[in-house]
Amino acid sequence: MNYKHWINGAWADSLDGNTRAIEDPATGSIIGRVAEGSAADIDRAVQAAHIAFYDGRWSKLTPGERSVAIWKLGDLLAERVEDFARAESMNTGKPYGIVSLGADMPFGVDNLHFFAAAARDTHGYSAGEYAKGFTSIYRREPVGVVGQVAPWNYPLLMAIWKLGPALAAGCTVVLKPAPTTPITALMLAELAKEAGIPDGVVNVVAGGNDAGQALVEHPLVRMVSLTGSTGTGKKIMKTAADTLKRVHLELGGKAPVIVFDDADIEAAATAATIASTFNTGQDCTAATRVYVHKSQINNATEAIVEAMRAIKIGLPFEDDVFMGPLISGVQRERVQGFVDRAKAAGANVLTGGSVPTGFDSGYYFSPTVITGADQKSEIIQSEVFGPVLTINAFSDDAEALHYGNDVLYGLAASLWTKDVGRAMRIAADLEFGTVWVNDHIPLASETPHGGFKQSGFGKDLSAEAVSDYKITKHVMVRNS
Ligand code: NAD
Repeated sequence: MNYKHWINGAWADSLDGNTRAIEDPATGSIIGRVAEGSAADIDRAVQAAHIAFYDGRWSKLTPGERSVAIWKLGDLLAERVEDFARAESMNTGKPYGIVSLGADMPFGVDNLHFFAAAARDTHGYSAGEYAKGFTSIYRREPVGVVGQVAPWNYPLLMAIWKLGPALAAGCTVVLKPAPTTPITALMLAELAKEAGIPDGVVNVVAGGNDAGQALVEHPLVRMVSLTGSTGTGKKIMKTAADTLKRVHLELGGKAPVIVFDDADIEAAATAATIASTFNTGQDCTAATRVYVHKSQINNATEAIVEAMRAIKIGLPFEDDVFMGPLISGVQRERVQGFVDRAKAAGANVLTGGSVPTGFDSGYYFSPTVITGADQKSEIIQSEVFGPVLTINAFSDDAEALHYGNDVLYGLAASLWTKDVGRAMRIAADLEFGTVWVNDHIPLASETPHGGFKQSGFGKDLSAEAVSDYKITKHVMVRNS
């Protein structure tokens, strides 16, 4: 699996000839080499996107014409499920069965079809006489060239969540995938050409943080959209200030699962387990902190430990595997470090906490349950990005709400109760971009996904995402 950059509708080597080895995290073996972009490659791609934006080959198409091409891209992706899912599994260690049939591929196709439809939405446009003698028209214009920076946890889906709304809005794009997982984003760019999206509209430059930095600095880029860690979001926001770019930031999370005394404990335990081990816990909305009413804490803890022990770990192409490896050796060390420090601070590891038996190669880590951690401790306050759950008790609704909100993050949360009134009150006061009641993790293309607080701002998915890539222009016409 050797790949180059995709610039102006064609494969391109790095100008300095550099490449990066790409690893399979399930085995640690090298599966290919990909061009490693520098500031010069970013510049080439931005110039191509700039020309493509200003000559109107995409931005001046009718929304209906753009919609046809984006829909076609979804159709082509649906035809290539096997190729894409295989590449994604090899590059990330994700279970092939889940990527191909369960999550990434079907959802990615649906996302593209949704954005194709959203391209044609006329909601919110208006015209009228607001000053005597004038007609005012509000136009929603595409922002221009957009720089997009993606993480490694869902390489294909994140590329779709970035490209879909930007293309629907009429923007042209330079996307930089995560350094370790560029393959499916590059494959998608090639497919965009086959779908009829003109050259120069979708450009993908593989590379590391320096290439990302060059994209954020580039004066011809009008907006930067990042999905990544909160630390990177802060750096990007500072860099973007120099050229006063718009920023759109989908950052880290630390989702609570709040289980009230009247909840279905078995259902909550199952959902918390799935939502903390899905994608090996490398999910910004993953369940990470379970808070249970003190009357149910023993039942819930027992049920969660049992469910975590039953998670099937394995190689990506084995049958019925639910959980693969972490993305890299660095990430596994990071996760292990969090667990070791929690133990050293007095917390109890009820299950997991180390490499599972029989997984000596690759970067596997066992589903882990931790109790007895202090609310202010690192394991409760920081994003681990691995299959690690903490469980703590609370005494009343006010304390549950306080614990839930008491982190810097605000991406997603779930609450579990049969009392509709309580569900409505707590949902209103949780400071998170998504609040699930009696579930944790499902999403739909139509539903806005994005953060409060230090989880960032701007939405991926939904019509709001398309709107984020547009600017309102007021045209005032003298009519008398
Ligand atoms: P990361 O922040 O390390 O890297 C993300 C991307 O930013 C990479 O492509 C990287 O090369 C680039 N980058 C790093 N420094 C940069 C800089 N100074 N300028 C420009 N680009 C730079 O994140 P990661 O480790 O790849 O991904 C995991 C993180 O992503 C987690 O924190 C997770 O919560 C977050 N995430 C958030 C969402 C969401 O929707 N909110 C979704 C998925 C992942």
